[in-house]
Amino acid sequence: MLLEVHDLHVEFGTRDGVAHAVNGVSYRVDAGETLAVLGESGSGKSVTAQAVMGILDTPPGRITGGRVLFQGRDLLRLKEEERRRVRGAEMAMIFQDSLSALNPVLTVGDQLGEMFTVHRGMSRRDARLRAVELMDRVRIPAAAQRVGDYPHQFSGGMRQRIMIAMALALEPALVIADEPTTALDVTVQAQVMDLLAELQREYRMGLVLITHDLGVVADVADRIAVMYAGRIVETAPVHDLYKAPAHPYTRGLLDSIPRLDLKGRELYAIQGMPPSLTRVPPGCAFHPRCPLARDVCRTDVPPLQAVQGPGAEEGERASACHFWRECLHG
Ligand code: SF4
Ligand code: MG
Repeated sequence: MLLEVHDLHVEFGTRDGVAHAVNGVSYRVDAGETLAVLGESGSGKSVTAQAVMGILDTPPGRITGGRVLFQGRDLLRLKEEERRRVRGAEMAMIFQDSLSALNPVLTVGDQLGEMFTVHRGMSRRDARLRAVELMDRVRIPAAAQRVGDYPHQFSGGMRQRIMIAMALALEPALVIADEPTTALDVTVQAQVMDLLAELQREYRMGLVLITHDLGVVADVADRIAVMYAGRIVETAPVHDLYKAPAHPYTRGLLDSIPRLDLKGRELYAIQGMPPSLTRVPPGCAFHPRCPLARDVCRTDVPPLQAVQGPGAEEGERASACHFWRECLHG
């Protein structure tokens, strides 16, 4: 097992009180596997990733429980210095906003090269050559000519490729990509996602792909964990989840993806808004928006329980819905 997040809790102090941003999240990622973590903004998906990477803003954020096992070591117990070493070389993160993630006053060649001079003790000259190789690898045209350019001289899509190159430079075992294509236009999104998927296979890395867009993960993810209000509400192999969701929230998300074969039909939208994390509804947090809700949903928190159905033979499916059977067969 590459990464195992176990019962993670993260709180934020806010003016409105304590926000339970992550409320008992568990997931795991094997080497060479892609896990998509799906949720609306405020569902806790990015905060979970930041806690895993050790880059949570503290304060106001605070990890109040859980374990993060990376190659068997509990990252939450490492000293900051060891943590930094793991973060530099063994796990890497790709962010949505490449302009603020890259250093504006360094050329991309210097930034890529720094990975090799700092972490691998290479000479500047060799590091430069590796930088060009990497830029080639992520298909930046005329890499040798562009290695001396600054981040703002590249298009958004090209910058995102450079971020991918930075993340992969040291061939980490795990990459976490937080909405890596959200800021790009649709055609470029697909190209960057394809590139990421291709490199993931080639390097056999574990990939956690965080997204709010169920449409982008179908072709690249092996498994999906759907988050809502700080919890995982459904987890399943990707194709099983598409075929037959076992949670009404997932069903709502699937029904709101535009489909070519249903063109002209009005798109479904889940009613209402996700809750504020300082005021999560009692019982099932989704109940105010759920078409299947009944009394027990307003009082009893549904535990994440094993789902018998498609994909269940591997024991790989779970849903946090009292009525998952109805949803699955409905
Ligand atoms: Fe809907 Fe109840 Fe299931 Fe929550 S537990 S998703 S409210 S049916
Ligand atoms: Mg986010």
